[in-house]
Amino acid sequence: MRYAADLHLHSRFAKAVSPNMTLENIAAAARRKGIDVLGTGDCLQAEWLKELEEGLIPAEPGWFALWSEGETPGPFPGTLRFVLSTEVHCAPRGCRETEGIHHLIYFPSFEAVRALRSRLERLGEDLTEGRPRLRLSSQELLRMVLETGHDCHLAPAHVLNPYFSTLGSIMQHRRLEEVFGDSSVHLLAVEMGLTSIPPMCRRISALDRHALFACSDAHSLENIGRECTLLETEPGYAPLFSALRRGSRDEVIGCLKVSIFRARYFRNWCGRCQEHYDGTMCPQGHGRLVTGSREWLEEIADRAEPVSVPGTPRFRMFIPLCALIAEFFQLGPTSRKVGLVMDQLLRALGNEREILTKSPSGKSPQPRRTHWPTPSWASVPLITASPRSSRRRPSSRNCCNRRSAGRVFRY
Ligand SMILES: [Zn+2]
Ligand SMILES: [Zn+2]
Repeated sequence: MRYAADLHLHSRFAKAVSPNMTLENIAAAARRKGIDVLGTGDCLQAEWLKELEEGLIPAEPGWFALWSEGETPGPFPGTLRFVLSTEVHCAPRGCRETEGIHHLIYFPSFEAVRALRSRLERLGEDLTEGRPRLRLSSQELLRMVLETGHDCHLAPAHVLNPYFSTLGSIMQHRRLEEVFGDSSVHLLAVEMGLTSIPPMCRRISALDRHALFACSDAHSLENIGRECTLLETEPGYAPLFSALRRGSRDEVIGCLKVSIFRARYFRNWCGRCQEHYDGTMCPQGHGRLVTGSREWLEEIADRAEPVSVPGTPRFRMFIPLCALIAEFFQLGPTSRKVGLVMDQLLRALGNEREILTKSPSGKSPQPRRTHWPTPSWASVPLITASPRSSRRRPSSRNCCNRRSAGRVFRY
């Protein structure tokens, strides 16, 4: 059975998350987006956990359905399944505010969630935040997750994001072993995040033994499913996670990703200007830029070119539909007209994933390339990474950038 899974998002109980992120709203948004299996997010948080226990009923083993839908006859099309999941922030004592590392944890049952919860509470950890800040090292956390159950899994989140990431530029780690020690072999897989794509990860041999997957990390309804992983497995928790761990292309059909040139932290970034720059210092005098994943990769990559090892998914990059419509009409993405056009398109053509991925003939376009692109990241030209900056820059440069981006990433 083929399905799209988005296994990293947040509830309204996590910091900086929209108050609209309720179970019912999340489910409705997932249907609009064409997502079939969703992570619940934040399942260690007491109030959200209670809502999940009341709002979900067991479906296929380890998968849950919305209680309000009653017993649905088998998964898909049209049905939606949930997997118990959370993201945590590991910041052992002594970490500064901007330090610490995020990890994703998956559980096959509410009992397993409760078991890890009680253990963390006994250690005095504060679980009131949707994405709890734990005073454990990543290695200690991984050990606890594995002890909770052989079928509980941990995966490093958004691996090359500058902030809060296993191989991000803030923490300056270069290998997974620096974070997880010898236990890194037990990791489920590696979440790419918005700031990396398979050819970037496959320039780092330290990631070779781990398969890659993509999720949205949505903090609002609009962002649900903006990145997801397409799988073909039997329904249920165990087949889903063994497929992610193996990463074979028979089961992990591919990843849908937002164009990396739109990621805030792909290029170097000034938080005060809210703008991308090259170089290390803000030209407006705001001090050091945050080193984006493109530049940090050149520091830590031990290969000039990516290699395709097992666990390397096919991928395609898109611009989210509402951003496309907004840019077409030169309006803000939350404007009423954009919402209306979006609704009309969804009514006429199906969900957003189908609209973005299917050609007018109704068939999914097949990737043309059979071998890896050979991007030289140092030579990727200045990319107009955000709609704000693309409006301000001369159009000739945009054309040049689009051509270059196409050359580097053409399928
Ligand atoms: Zn995170
Ligand atoms: Zn600045």
